[in-house]
Amino acid sequence: MCLFCEIIKGNIPSTKVYEDDRILAFKDINPVAPVHILIAPKEHIASANEINTDNSKYVAHIFEKIPEIAKAQGIESYRVINNCGSDAGQTVMHLHFHLIGGVELGEKII
Ligand code: 5GP
Ligand code: ZN
Repeated sequence: MCLFCEIIKGNIPSTKVYEDDRILAFKDINPVAPVHILIAPKEHIASANEINTDNSKYVAHIFEKIPEIAKAQGIESYRVINNCGSDAGQTVMHLHFHLIGGVELGEKII
């Protein structure tokens, strides 16, 4: 089972900040900003390349919940990042979005 599936199942501990039947949001173990939350679907989707009409509801639900998750962290300005594939820096092959904020964010790629 992949690392984030283990975290979702509770086999590996994490600091959860939001959970429902479809998604889990938890603190990144190596934060790059005061707020650094990972948001993942509970269904294993390897990367953004695997999003399709059957599972896109998980992605939609993540984005529906991001404002609430951010607000609970005390931020309303933030960056949402998905790394897809190794060249883009994806290290855990279970789709997730980084929610980053709590500081003035620096250089942008785009
Ligand atoms: P990626 O590089 O795939 O976009 O993001 C993976 C993220 O998972 C990294 O930011 C890394 O710090 C985080 N991470 C890796 N292992 C663990 C873990 O065991 N627990 C938590 N909470 N985060 C992890
Ligand atoms: Zn997984």
